[in-house]
Order: sequence, then C-alpha cells, then structure tokens
Amino acid sequence: MDQKSLIIRVQEAIKEGVSEQNYNNWFRLVHWQFNGQDKVSLQVPNRFVRDWIRENYLERIQFEFFKLTGRQHQVDFRVQSATKPNKKTSKETTQEKSPNQATQKIARGLDRVSLTQMGRLLKPQIKQPYSLNRFNPAYTFERYVVGGANQFVSAACQAVAQNPGQSYNPLLIYGGVGLGKTHLLHAIGLHVGRTRPNLRVIYTTGEAFTNEVINSIRFDKTTDFRRRYRENCDLLLIDDIQFIAGKERTMEEFFHTFNAIHQAKGQIVLTTDTLPQKISQLEERLRSRFSWGLVADIQPPDFETRCAILYKKAELEKIRLPETVCRYVATYVHSNVRDLEGCLTRLKAFASLAGVDLTLQLAKEILGQMLNEVKPKLSMNQIQQIVAEKYSIKRSELCSQNRQKRFAKPRQIAMYLCKKYIKSSYPEIAREFDKKDHTTVLHACQKVTQNLNKDPHLKNEIEELDVLLEAKA
Ligand code: ADP
Ligand code: MG
Repeated sequence: MDQKSLIIRVQEAIKEGVSEQNYNNWFRLVHWQFNGQDKVSLQVPNRFVRDWIRENYLERIQFEFFKLTGRQHQVDFRVQSATKPNKKTSKETTQEKSPNQATQKIARGLDRVSLTQMGRLLKPQIKQPYSLNRFNPAYTFERYVVGGANQFVSAACQAVAQNPGQSYNPLLIYGGVGLGKTHLLHAIGLHVGRTRPNLRVIYTTGEAFTNEVINSIRFDKTTDFRRRYRENCDLLLIDDIQFIAGKERTMEEFFHTFNAIHQAKGQIVLTTDTLPQKISQLEERLRSRFSWGLVADIQPPDFETRCAILYKKAELEKIRLPETVCRYVATYVHSNVRDLEGCLTRLKAFASLAGVDLTLQLAKEILGQMLNEVKPKLSMNQIQQIVAEKYSIKRSELCSQNRQKRFAKPRQIAMYLCKKYIKSSYPEIAREFDKKDHTTVLHACQKVTQNLNKDPHLKNEIEELDVLLEAKA
C-alpha cells in the first residue's frame, strides 16, 4: 500500500471511531504527511488542536498504522505558523518564547473556531442529553443560579419537583435561547428521580416526540406508543414543545396524551422558546391547554446574576476567576447564559494551555474579537449620547448629580430609554449614570411612564428619540 492510501485508510478508521462532529472539529484542518520511512507528521492549526489530538487520539492513530502495516510508526506534530497560515510550517519548539506570545498564537489560530464549536471541542465525550430519560447530572437545582429574572420560574420548578401533579399543571417554561429551560427541566427530572424513584418519568423533546409518532405509525406500533405515554407515565417532561406545531398527527397524539396524564393527576412540564399565543400552526385546543396551569417565563439575567453564574461555573470548573475578568465578561455578554459559559470555557482553555493566570488583559486578548460580535448594537452609552445631544447638554451632565430641571428631565428620560431598549437591571443602569442607589432609576422610569400618558409634549419628544434609537437597535 502506498503512503497516500495508508493515510487515507488510517483517517477512515479514526472517522469510524468518533462522531462526525468530533472528526470535523479535530481533524478537518489537519494535514497528514509522510516524513520518511514509518514517520508521519500531522500539521495542525494550533497547539490546542495538537494537545487535544495527542491526548485523545495519538495512541489510536499509532495503533491504526500498526494494524495496517505491522510496524510501529512515529507520529509527530507540526504547528502551523500563525503568521503565515497554509504556507510554511516550523517546529513548534522554536516558536514558544513567552506565555503571552503563546497565547496570542493560540488565540489567532482559534479565532476561526466559533463559541459553540469551542464548547463542543472541550467536551467531546459528553453525549447530548436528549435521549429518553437521560438527564444531564450537571443540570441540578443546586447548580442553577437564581436571580431576579428567573426567581419565579425556578421556584415554580422546585414546587413541581417536590409535589408533582399537585401544584401547577401543566407548568410551561417559556424563555429565549440559552436561558436555562433545558437545565430546569432536567433538574425536575433529576429531583423526582432521586426522591420518588417509583414515579414513571418520561423525558423527551418536541422533536423526538414527533419522530416517535412517525415511527409508531410507520411500524404499526401506535398502541404501544399510546400505552407508554398515556397509561405509563406519571411525569411527562417535554423540551421545546413548539416543535410539534404544524405537525397534525403529533399534535393530535399530544392532545390525547396531555388529557390522559392530566386526568390521572400526573404532572406535565413543557418548555418553549415561543409564547403559545405566538406559535403559529398550533391547534387552538393545545394553546388553551398550555395555559391551564402556569406559564413561567425566564428573562435574560441581570448583571449581578450574570456575575454570580460566572463565579459558580468557575468554582465548579476550578477556574480562578478574578473579579475584573468576571465583570468584563458579564458586561459584554448580555442575553445568553450559554454564551457566558462559552467565554469561560474559552478562557480556561487558553489560560491553561499557555500556563498563565487569567488577567483582564489576557481575557481581553482572548475574547476581544468574539465579544465584539455579541455586543449589542445599542449601548447605554449611545443612548446617553443621543439624549444629551437632543437636549443640548453634555453626557457628563446627564450623569452628574446636578438636579436642575434641564439636566434632571433628560436624565430621567435617558434612564427610561435604557430600560426600554437595553432591558438592563435598575442597578446596572444606575451604575452607568454614576448613581449609587438604583431606586433613582426606578423612580425615573415610573415617572416617565406616568407622565407619558398625561403630557403630549413629552410623548412627542420620546417618540422622536424612539426613531433615533430604533434606527440603531
Ligand atoms: P435553553 O434550554 O433555555 O436554551 P439551557 O438550559 O440549555 O438553555 O442552558 C444553557 C446553558 O446555560 C446550560 O449549560 C445551563 O446549565 C446554563 N444555565 C442557564 N441558566 C443558568 C443559571 N441560571 N444558572 C446556571 N447555569 C445556567
Ligand atoms: Mg433547551
């Protein structure tokens, strides 16, 4: 067998042993090359990929060569030069001068890797928790950080987990992507599994449920399907129920499943990223059932909760997270806890690879580019700027303690608009306006809201500002 075919055979063998996703993550950018008799060299895009392959796949690669040739092969790695990608390669040992340089190098190499990919890269072994009755052991109530935006939903979930079928039925958890819906659903499942092992729990997703309906029809197993869901289930957890909208047979099955479990005083918990009223093609009778019990929504976490989540994750992952870094990440990543986690994962990977401690400087280097991508278009700073300009005052005057009416009014309007457009918490807004006490912001927002109805002049002014801001939001 020539060297080229040998490499292809080894690559295929590796491919068979890992998921396609993992193969793509790790090997897509790797260039294989013979480097003399029984010597193979893998050209990798950065040290991160090298270390990971070395740790997880090197033995496997050597074993495959051995199986095909009967001889031991020496496999070494070459890290692609960061400055001249695709062209020159150099031995990595000559490149690592200082931790900082090393980090920059990895950072450059990994700029192309997206946040979600990064998450996957670091946890290649963890299976998606989406198969039936499989709960992610990390998704417990203990690990769920509670703040103003999710206090209510978290309490509702705990009540249901403690007394299934007795408090809110169904419980519908509603919220945007990455805000912890799946986490809470698993937490309920884990809690019930631990405290009431006799209860029959089914966990599935809207998509998996749809597939089950299709298969049960296809393979003539509808009786089994119905028995399983309608007669043998005390707690039904369905994630992303919005998926079944528009799928007639699935909605039909779900409707009867719902009725059967509900009548038998079994508990139903559903999650959705769209409010039932807004899910198009959802049957009316389902829409009404979804709101029979309690609809609890999760809002994006405020600044303080974002910090608390970061600290908690850092503690669990044994990362030393300085306060400055925590605040930096929490400031820029607003609306999605999954992205917060992604940042932390990325910081951990870089810092540990470069063998350095996390500092604000390092975090900025590593996350800078990425955070620009997720930065909201409209910032509080911009709102202040726009309002100040409209009222012909300086931004600094808007944030000053001066209570003269010509400053106080625009200040209140700016605070109100920050709440309206950025949806930040009161303390966050207070901080942007150099106010110690967040009740100032609360009063400002209340006052503007009240006066809006009474004062057509004010209404006009705000409408004009709305036009300017909406153009940027
Ligand atoms: P969703 O299902 O709403 O899209 P997930 O439940 O998958 O979101 O959450 C995304 C990630 O964020 C998960 O890893 C989850 O553990 C984490 N997460 C979300 N909210 C919180 C929170 N309040 N405390 C701790 N972790 C959270
Ligand atoms: Mg989810």
